[in-house]
Amino acid sequence: MSTLEDIVLAVVDDVAPFVGQGKVADYIPALACVSPERFGIAVSTIDGRCITAGDADERFSIQSMSKVLTLTLALESRAAALWTRVGKEPSGDPFNSLFQLEFERGIPRNPLINAGAIVVADCLVSDCADPRESVRSFVSYLAGATVDFDIAVATSELETGNRNAALAHLMRGFGNLENPVDRVLDTYFHQCSLAMSCRELATTFGYLAAGGTVPGGGKRIVSTERARRINALMLTCGTYDRAGEFAFEVGLPAKSGVGGGIVAVVPGKGAIAVWSPALGPSGNSVAGVEALRRFVVRTGWSVF
Ligand code: GLU
Repeated sequence: MSTLEDIVLAVVDDVAPFVGQGKVADYIPALACVSPERFGIAVSTIDGRCITAGDADERFSIQSMSKVLTLTLALESRAAALWTRVGKEPSGDPFNSLFQLEFERGIPRNPLINAGAIVVADCLVSDCADPRESVRSFVSYLAGATVDFDIAVATSELETGNRNAALAHLMRGFGNLENPVDRVLDTYFHQCSLAMSCRELATTFGYLAAGGTVPGGGKRIVSTERARRINALMLTCGTYDRAGEFAFEVGLPAKSGVGGGIVAVVPGKGAIAVWSPALGPSGNSVAGVEALRRFVVRTGWSVF
């Protein structure tokens, strides 16, 4: 029988032909300079092991993967009240789409698209004395390492994030933002700019695999029920407007980011983080999706 170590190495071989396929995100200028030829994978298990291969220790921009972590923080202060301001349905639209938000009167479809994450950031601005620092220290705690913002990426997005500014102004116009747009976007762009490695991401997301506690008998982060619900949102809304196909091919709760990372959760077993910067048309890493698909085929780890 193959060990997890053997399987991770086999996946690296499996995906070699896919690495570099697709296009590195360039709408955030600071992301455009990352080489498409990178690939990393890390698997953390709920008994506290972490198996890695490839560029698993290289830090990259986590971008939208941060949305799960800020949602976890906002649910701590807002609990069920959050769901009056953001929905729980997949959008079926691109992550930065404006038109659904206009039809639906400023209530974003879910917290894992940009508009929803901007509402979540607004909650953190209201509820935390220093929202950036609350996010940074929470993520560092989960990662077991000091993580930091990539200021060049955050600044690049502040200068070019016109669509996000439009989403935020529209929601403020509908009365769904409590704070000025600039303050909310400052938090949002910084959370997206957090730089982390696959090893750190797989470790960070372990609480969602371990029923809400830090793996290895650590602190409770969320209740078992909330962990289950966050996983449900990742499954239905976590991979842009390809969440249905991702569930069909991979069958795990996951969140992707335009930095080329994807993190997937296997409840009761562990978390898998993959990174390869070249993206397919929906914004998911081409080699990353393929790696998760091959991993699931080889291990049989699935929620289905
Ligand atoms: N900061 C990015 C944006 O708002 C996040 C996109 C993503 O990773 O999905 O456009």
